[in-house]
Formats: sequence, C-alpha cells, structure tokens
Amino acid sequence: MKVLKFGGSSVGSADAIDKVVGIIRKACETDSCAVVISAMQGTTDSLIEAGRSAERGDDGYIEILSNIGERHIDAIQELFETDNTVVMDFVESTIKELENLCEGVRLIRELSAKTLDRIMSFGEIVASRIVAAKLSAGGLENNWKDSRLLIRTDSNHGFAAVDFTETNRRIKGYFDGSPSKLYVFPGFISSDAGGYTTTLGRGGSDYTAAIIAAAINADVLEIWTDVSGMMTADPRFVRNVRQISHITYREAMELSHFGAKVIYPPTIQPVMAKGIPVLIKNTFASEDHGTLIEAESVSEKEMIRGITSIDEITVLSLEGSGMVGIPGFSKRLFDALSRAAINVILITQSSSEHSICVAIEQKCSEIAKLAVDLEFEHEINVGKIEPLKVESDFSILALVGDNMKAHTGVSGKMFTTLGHNGINIHAIAQGSSERNISAIISSKDVRKAVNTLHEEFFSDGNKQINVFIAGLGTVGGRLIEQLRTQHQHLSNELRLNVRVVGVANSKRALLVNDGIELESYRSDITEADEMTVAAFTDSIIEQNLRNSVFVDVTASPDVVETYPKLLAKSVSVIACNKIAASSEYEKYLQLKAAAREFGANFFFETNVGAGLPVINTLGDLLRSGDKVNRIEAVLSGTLNFVFNNYDGTRKFAEVVRQAQDKGYTEPDPRLDLSGTDVARKILILVRESGHVIEMDDITNAGFLPESCLAGTVDDFYTELERNDDHFRGLFENARNKHLTLKYIASFDDGKASVGLQSIGPDHNFANLSGKDNAVLFYTNRYSEQPLVIKGAGAGADVTAAGVFADIIRASRS
Ligand code: ADP
Ligand code: ASP
Ligand code: MG
Repeated sequence: MKVLKFGGSSVGSADAIDKVVGIIRKACETDSCAVVISAMQGTTDSLIEAGRSAERGDDGYIEILSNIGERHIDAIQELFETDNTVVMDFVESTIKELENLCEGVRLIRELSAKTLDRIMSFGEIVASRIVAAKLSAGGLENNWKDSRLLIRTDSNHGFAAVDFTETNRRIKGYFDGSPSKLYVFPGFISSDAGGYTTTLGRGGSDYTAAIIAAAINADVLEIWTDVSGMMTADPRFVRNVRQISHITYREAMELSHFGAKVIYPPTIQPVMAKGIPVLIKNTFASEDHGTLIEAESVSEKEMIRGITSIDEITVLSLEGSGMVGIPGFSKRLFDALSRAAINVILITQSSSEHSICVAIEQKCSEIAKLAVDLEFEHEINVGKIEPLKVESDFSILALVGDNMKAHTGVSGKMFTTLGHNGINIHAIAQGSSERNISAIISSKDVRKAVNTLHEEFFSDGNKQINVFIAGLGTVGGRLIEQLRTQHQHLSNELRLNVRVVGVANSKRALLVNDGIELESYRSDITEADEMTVAAFTDSIIEQNLRNSVFVDVTASPDVVETYPKLLAKSVSVIACNKIAASSEYEKYLQLKAAAREFGANFFFETNVGAGLPVINTLGDLLRSGDKVNRIEAVLSGTLNFVFNNYDGTRKFAEVVRQAQDKGYTEPDPRLDLSGTDVARKILILVRESGHVIEMDDITNAGFLPESCLAGTVDDFYTELERNDDHFRGLFENARNKHLTLKYIASFDDGKASVGLQSIGPDHNFANLSGKDNAVLFYTNRYSEQPLVIKGAGAGADVTAAGVFADIIRASRS
C-alpha cells in the first residue's frame, strides 16, 4: 500500500486536480493507495479570515465564504462534464453551514479555538470530496472517509497532539473492515475524545498522511507538492537552489523544523519509526526525481544538505550573577515557558552560566515575559537576576547536514562568510549531533545571509558580486565597458558573476537590483531619479546585497565622506579617487582600520601609476618581511608626457593642452603641473611603506610661476603662454648640459620630496617615454639594484583595468 498526499496547490484548480487524478490512476496500476487531500490553496487562510471577521462583529465573512464557495463550484463545473449535483449540493450545504457557524460567532463576538477548528475543517472536507468524486467519475472507485473518525487527539485545538494508540487501532480497523484499492481522506483534521473537531497544526495534512502510512505500515509515503522535492534553500529566497535527491530522516526533520516549509515538521517522526521511505514529488512535473527521505542516504559531496531560516523570532535572555553555579534556574525557566505553552526553538547558554538565551516565536513574547518574570519574581526583587530581556525581529538561520561532523571548518566558513557581509550574529547553537548549526541574526539580514551561505556552500564556487559605481566619466565609462565584455570570461574562469547594480553621476543614480543593462546605462540614467551621492550610498546600505563593492571613479571629496559608513556595513570600497588615501594620516588610518574591522576591502591601486601594480607589489614586499628604504619615482604620466614632448619649438601651453586633450591630465591640469598630484602619490607610497607622513611634510620644488596658479583653467593657459620664456629657459638650461627634464618624486632617509630635475643619459629614468611611469623601490632585499615597476601610468583604459583588478581582488578575498 502506498500513501499519497496532495497539498493545497496540487488541488488548487480544476487543471491541477486533473493532474492529481492522473497521478493516482498511475499509482493504482501497481498498488493499492490511500490518498490524503489538503484544502484548495488559500482556503484555510480564507476560512480563518472569515471567522475573525465574524468575531469582530462585521459581516465581511459573508463575502469571504461566498468567494470560497464560488471557487469550489467553478472547479466542479470545470471538472465534471455533466453537473455533478451530489458534490455541488455538498459544497452549497457546506457553505450554508459555515455561514451559520460564522453568524453564531458574530452574535457572541467570540471565536474559540474549538470553533475555529470546526470552521477550518471545511477546506479539507470539501476538497477531498471533490477529488473523490472526480476519481469515481473517471472509473476509480474509492472509499472516502472522514479522518476525524480515525485520528484521535487531545483537545488542544489548533495544534492537537495525537493519541497514537487509539488512532492506530482505528485506522487499522478501518482498513481491515473496508477493503478497497483506493481510499481518500481529508488531511489536517482530527477529533478529540468528546468528538469535537481538532486540527493538527498549519500544514498538518502531511502529518495526517504520515500517521496513516505508519498505522498501516505502508511501503512508501509520497508527498506531492508544487516543487520537485526538498531544495538546498527556500526557492522563494534563493535563485539557484538545487534539488536534494536523497536525505536522511533526521536531516529532513532539522530542515523542516528550521523553516523548510515543504514538509510539516512532525511528519517525519511516525514514518521514521517504521522505516517507511518518504518521497517528495512535484504534481506539476511528475517525472522529476524528487527527494527521497530514508534512514541512510547516499553520501553527497557537499558538507551540508540545506540552509533554512525561520522569521519572527524573539530572543529571551535571562541573566544575573545569582544564576552562577546554582542548579535549577534553567529548569525553572523552561518549566515556566512550558506551562505557558511556549515552544522553545533554540537554546544557548554561556559557559559562565551567567546567562541563558532562548529563541521562541515572536507571537509568544508577551506571554513569555509575564510567565518568566513571575517565576523569578523573588530573585528579581532581591537583585539576583535581571528581569527577562526580550528582543524581537530576529530570524534563525540553520545549516543542516549529517556530513558536517565529518568535515571540519563548517562553522568557521559560515561565520566568516556572514562576517564578510556585515551580518551580525546575535547567538549561535550547535547540536551535539553536529547535524545543525544555527545562528540568530536580525531579520533584515536574512535574505542576504541565506543567499551568501548558499553561494558559499553550494554554487561550485560561483559567487555573485554586486558592484556600485560612482562616476561615469572616461574611466567609469571604460570600466563599465570592460566589465561588460569580460562578463562571460569572469564567470567561466573565475566563477564570478560580477553584476553592476548601481551607477551614479553627480546628478542622478540608476539602481537595478537584477543588474543594470550595460549597453544602455547612459540613456537609462537620464531617466533615473535625481540623487545625491549620500542618498546613493544610503540606498546601497539599504539594499543590503551580499558581496557589495563600491567603486569611486570620481574626484569628489563628497564621495570620500561616504566611505566610512559603507565600510562599516562591510561594503568594500575601491577608490580611483586619491583624496581618501592622501587626506590626513588619521583619516587614511581610520579607513584601513574600518575595512579590517568589518571584513571589507579598501583598495586604491590606481591611486599610483594608474593600472601598474605598484601598491600591491609594495604590499607583497612588506607582508613578506621586506623593508622599504628609498623610493624614486616618475609618477606623473602627464608631466612625463609634457616634458618628453616639449622641445622648445612649440609653446609649452600647447603641449599641456595636448596632454589634456588626450585625457592624461586631471580635469584641472594645475593639479598635475603644480606637483600636487605627484606629491599625493608619493605620500600614498610612503604611507603604504609603513611610515607616518602628511602632505605638509613633502618638499615641493614647483616649477610653475606663481601667476599660473590663480584663476580659472582658462586663465591658467593664458598665463602659461605669457610665461613661455620661463619654460623655454628651463628646457634650454638642461639641454645645454646634455640633460633632460623629469619630474621626480623621492623618498629617502625618512624625507619625501617632489620636483623637476635634470637627469643624465645614464639615469634610470632617462629612457622613459610618452606617459610612462616608473617606480624604483630600494629595500633590504633590493638594495643594490632596485625593484622597478614601469609602464604606461595614465590613460582611461589602463586606469579602468586597474580598478577592474581591484574589484576582482576584493571579490576573491
Ligand atoms: P503544499 O501546499 O503542497 O503542502 P507547501 O506550500 O506547504 O506545499 O510547501 C511547498 C513550498 O515550500 C514550496 O512551494 C516552497 O516555496 C517552500 N519551501 C520552503 N523551503 C523549501 C525547501 N528547502 N525546499 C523546497 N521547498 C521549500
Ligand atoms: N490546509 C491546511 C493549512 O493550510 C493544512 C495543509 O495544507 O497541510 O494549513
Ligand atoms: Mg504543506
């Protein structure tokens, strides 16, 4: 004998019921079957709503009941070719009876749990009648039986406990006394010793099926639903869930207990006791394998089997010095909760015994507070313990799998992953079976947490990176282009799914959770909301997406102001903008410390030498124990370009303008020509070498006449032209000595300086062409011959590539 249970969505419409009949027909070909039917999807909720509306004294229940009736009648009309008056009459008389019941409730303005059970029972009764009639109409004769006459429970209405001795006796008696090839039962409902209707808890039809399966020693229990089995996470939360093909009873129990709604938690117990396998199947894709739940499962390579979560959790903490070493406090706490009929979901206790923390359903929090404070009234009065602390809006996140005990590091990986994403863990619990690790986190983080963990444990290393870009100038544009063209490569080779989810310019921001269209973002942003940078970063925090990376390709100080709050939320910051790393030392240090503290990254490789790997190389040297003694560098692609191209035949201003047109200068070329930009870069290198230094500590031997520094950029060009003799003088002076001009930054003996120098043909920098940069590091290991990094040090493409590399680095660490 097989037991098949069909859930609410499987009987939610005439089409679905047709599928159900097909599945039963097939099952009956090889075996006799007992079928358990839920209410049509949504019916139980509507019945409760009808009861509540009557209790409030309004007559809204009439419409609700009429909608329920209509829905069933529509299904009947679709299902049966000729009017099936028997079922139709049954539905109509049922609705009438419900109306009478609700009218009674409305009059006395009271809805007891007992009456509510009676109201709720109609959903299963009617749906199972319809299915039974449809089976008969299709030639599948069957015995319909009201489960209330078989399943005996206590009188705990809404959540009744089964009296298994009586129930098993009745079920066996019924099956023995009414032999049939096919039985149909309504799920969810039962009755107490007085004959009053009880129910087995929301989702309880699964349990009905398990009770029947165990009582008759069925060969298999099949749970037919709207998904192809148990998934590695809730499919409504996580996109790339995988179906679990095999799972043990205990794992399934843990997963369902911690929120995998696909089976009702008590379901497993009766079938596990009898060793009856459970198969979860999809009514709408009946060929799919589904999930097989058994005592032992074939081992799969994953460390864990699934990730689940339950929302609306309240955490109760009982604390106080009076608890230490004195036995009985926890017993009294749990007794008090149990007397108040409060179910404890999770417990943790600190080893100092100074506090006990339990998680319960949020709806019970007020009763819990009253019950526990009353229990410990005396101890609270004498100050031995604190009044019960009650904190709400939490969720429990659980990682489940028998394999966990065979693998070390599961919890480490779990907590590191959550930490990297700024998810605070309020409490943790691990059962001694090592089958479950649970963490209590804030409900606002739960979606992000489940997704991040799922990615970490199930996605073959595939990781989604959510990138936000501020600044859509030349570098920003090139970066987006590179991200677009490299998308597939990153996914194939690095298993990174880099998604640009937000872009902003100085006026507007475009935010698209599923990823911005990288072909059309320029036009799309013109229609986006006006938004300040601060609002843009606030919405990054608000969205709370996993693996978020913020990229600053602006030159704006306002954007830099937002870094601390982003880092504090574990959003990594990639700065092409040099302002942060070159601001006061204290600020630079704070940003680095914040990144460390919150598990985020703060990278700014392109601050020096554009895409050249300068800062990273320096970091590698220091991490491996080397020490930087001296630095010499040509760090301005702009100045290098200008002095390489200036030969006295053209005006100096013309060469500067050419550099600007080619995109080699800052928007205000004076930042380059005054040496400020070079000074910032050497400052960053010296800081990254481990020294404390401020801008004012750098000697800047400028070559621009004072007058060039005032006014607008246009004024600047005019002044350059007026001072052309000055520049020609500099050039000719050097040429006459067979020297060339280079703008050099250096750090030696604890001092940094920048300035124009005349160098000979043997100098390391003599052959630097075009816009090249070069950095020489003299270290303990590279003492005679320096470590040289050299190459193009300006240009949108190389800079964007450097930012790109930082994004990848941030994603992988
Ligand atoms: P039924 O009405 O058939 O009893 P339920 O709605 O009770 O169906 O349970 C099926 C639903 O459970 C699925 O549609 C899915 O959204 C949800 N669910 C939650 N967690 C999981 C999980 N880990 N695996 C599969 N489904 C899950
Ligand atoms: N109809 C009931 C409910 O919605 C039982 C079930 O569907 O399993 O809770
Ligand atoms: Mg269900």
